[in-house]
Amino acid sequence: MDNNKLRIGVDLGGSKIEIIALGGDGGVLLRERVATPQGDYMATVMAVAGLVEAAEQKVGRALCVPGLPLFPPAKRNSRQARPGQVTVASVGIGIPGAESLVSGLIKNANSTCLIGQPLRRDLQQLLQREVRIANDANCFALSEAADGAGAGAQVVFGVILGTGVGGGIVIDGRVLTGANAIAGEWGHNPMPGEWNSHPPSPLPVEGGDGCSPHSGSGSFENVALGRPGGDVRPTCYCGRKGCIELYLSGPGLAADHRRAVGKPVAESAATDLSAAEIAQRAADGDALCEATLQRYEARLARALAQVINILDPDVIVLGGGLSNMDRLYENVPRLWAAHVFSDRVATKLLKHRHGDSSGVRGAAWLWP
Ligand SMILES: [Zn+2]
Repeated sequence: MDNNKLRIGVDLGGSKIEIIALGGDGGVLLRERVATPQGDYMATVMAVAGLVEAAEQKVGRALCVPGLPLFPPAKRNSRQARPGQVTVASVGIGIPGAESLVSGLIKNANSTCLIGQPLRRDLQQLLQREVRIANDANCFALSEAADGAGAGAQVVFGVILGTGVGGGIVIDGRVLTGANAIAGEWGHNPMPGEWNSHPPSPLPVEGGDGCSPHSGSGSFENVALGRPGGDVRPTCYCGRKGCIELYLSGPGLAADHRRAVGKPVAESAATDLSAAEIAQRAADGDALCEATLQRYEARLARALAQVINILDPDVIVLGGGLSNMDRLYENVPRLWAAHVFSDRVATKLLKHRHGDSSGVRGAAWLWP
């Protein structure tokens, strides 16, 4: 390991910009976060560049290099660094979107001021070095593959289950970008098995015993089932119907619960519960919330089984707010077995190790 190596990672989110500096041994030397300038692309770029420069200076002072800034501007190209010389920091940026391989412009970003902008070119100009940019889900997968839950695994599929659903693929420690820069983006594939159910078939769900003290078709007497043959799936902002994200994101889980309970018939059937509240109520024994979580688990199992059939990862790591439901790690692998084209499923489903830090850590690891 190169002890002179300094990796800087930046997680450029819609509400905050976080920066981390990792030393040659992977240890955290600095970590800070600031609010993201709202709706202002140039201010955002300047904020990122300013954070990187400030981090270099702070880390340089902390390392007590006598009489010199650690990274003098004239030496800012790491390729020019000589053996034994302290190298310039590498910079990786995680963004909620992707960089078009055709134009070099940002696309698919939910921070809309980034869309259509040459973010990498602008940062490279300001920082006078090569900068790598990756989707935040790819950064999550990379962080967990580098020294997280997927450490040591050859193929890691990282999944974010949060306000949206994303995914990233890491093979032998490197992010798989793909020909269209969308490798691993499974959130806008259609959820299998949801063509004409609204909400889906009463429990028990397929692929598992579906039994719990709270389950059973009796829970769904007030539910309007889908019209036979009709496509009643919800429509996604992307223009497609029945996207995985519409079911497996936090808002998707909450919306599914609302659809299932219809109008509130009791306190326990309130229609405006968040995903976290639904999980808590299910843990407290609420039958309708338990049924919602069982539908969620069945869907997650079906959706991940398709990934397993195609990618066959050693490890699937879950991140995002919904990944904190510990029941997923036992129930989903039990349910996915029925959908995977194999007599035995060796793929492990694991909880993230680095949690909210994964995005920024993975950005730093974009430079191995
Ligand atoms: Zn969609």
